[in-house]
Amino acid sequence: MRIYNTLTRKTEHLEIPASVGINLFVCGPTVYDYSHIGHARTYIFFDAFVKFLRKRLKMKINYLQNITDIDDKIIDRALEQNKSWSDISKTFYDEYKEDMASIGVDSVDTYAEATKYIPEMISQIERLIKKGFAYQSANSVYFDVRKFPDYGKLSRQKLADLKEGVRVEIEAGKKYFADFALWKASKENEPTWPSPWGEGRPGWHIEDTAITEKHFGPRYNIHGGGLDLIFPHHEAEIAQMESVSGLSPLAQIWIHTGMLMVNGEKMSKSLGNFVTIKDFLNENSPEVLRYIMLSSHYRSPLDFTKKSAEMAVSSISRIKDFAGRLEKIENQSPPFPVEEFTKEFWKHLEDDFSMPQAFGSLFELVKEANKFIDSHSLSKPDAQKIIDFISDVNDIFGILPKEEHAPDEITALAVDREKARKAGDFEKADELREKIKEFGWDIDDTSDGPRISKIK
Ligand code: AMP
Repeated sequence: MRIYNTLTRKTEHLEIPASVGINLFVCGPTVYDYSHIGHARTYIFFDAFVKFLRKRLKMKINYLQNITDIDDKIIDRALEQNKSWSDISKTFYDEYKEDMASIGVDSVDTYAEATKYIPEMISQIERLIKKGFAYQSANSVYFDVRKFPDYGKLSRQKLADLKEGVRVEIEAGKKYFADFALWKASKENEPTWPSPWGEGRPGWHIEDTAITEKHFGPRYNIHGGGLDLIFPHHEAEIAQMESVSGLSPLAQIWIHTGMLMVNGEKMSKSLGNFVTIKDFLNENSPEVLRYIMLSSHYRSPLDFTKKSAEMAVSSISRIKDFAGRLEKIENQSPPFPVEEFTKEFWKHLEDDFSMPQAFGSLFELVKEANKFIDSHSLSKPDAQKIIDFISDVNDIFGILPKEEHAPDEITALAVDREKARKAGDFEKADELREKIKEFGWDIDDTSDGPRISKIK
């Protein structure tokens, strides 16, 4: 498998023996509001990527995600709503878990809430001070970026080119404008924890390195997140952990997802151009959301428009109709080159997870095999191979609704209806269809015969 590494700006081999396993850390959400479908883009990609590594490449993956449950945004929201910060973070952490479950994101092994790692954060900050990489100012502690010569290596920026105020917090007490807070002195109305520097709370970046050091040690295999986190967040993580451990790189491979965009702008809470996962699912299925997110390359920006869902629905129907036709095949015919298509599909994924190309191979297979079915020349064993392939694809991508098989009595009613229809007794056929509907099922008369499906 080859994958693009932001750190080296190269597509590299993922050279980890399958049996040893991969430690993967992906930045989780700040839990102060409902998740939107921009978050879904990042988490659906990593979900499919992990499932692909596990199922197809048989790799062991230990997938860890942090939950930022203390942050300025959480405190502000709590003050606005006259609630405690922990009420806000607990509510939206629960909502996040519910949203992820509802869109089939179930590959994360461990969710780590930042506030459960305060002693680990304090320990890291103490070691940074001792080694001369951090300094105390009043009751806060800052990382001294000028002490870390590699600062900027991930985002390819030089310290001299950084501009004050551009994504770097301006704060009195810093020796240098680009220094960042490791520990923030307590302010009125803010939650605090005791520390060697007085009451206060941790900075954002230190939570991730404290969590990963605890679970994985000072170095690990893959770090992931959205492109928007490269600077300053991931840069700061590198500075912290590589300074503490003296080991480099913190993570061997850095994977970043492109942003979900609306009219050329990133979908985000602050711009107000977002659609929550819940609202999206009120009108669409989770499979439609997964299809939209997986149909473009994970590193490209993805434009979300009114047409996105329509297009996904029509692509999913094409695959579903095709799968329905395959189920009905009984004949023996000359072989169809199934593997030529399936090999192509998997090959594209092993090459930087190239979904558009992989879906291209999938639809090529649909087109060619449909032609064979039209001329009654697809054999049952070949149809079965394709059914198994589609099932593997769906285990990883979750783009097709899981078919519910109709109970025997519904199938029997459908058979009677078909008999009545064929005999020209349309009145009886309609009556039977209504009866079937009363049980929550419907019949679709396709060119390959009647298909029963559950009414949603
Ligand atoms: P946040 O809660 O803002 O820290 O975001 C959590 C994760 O979602 C991070 O990895 C972000 O990069 C990612 N994310 C946020 N907005 C978008 C977006 N519009 N498109 C893709 N990923 C996003």
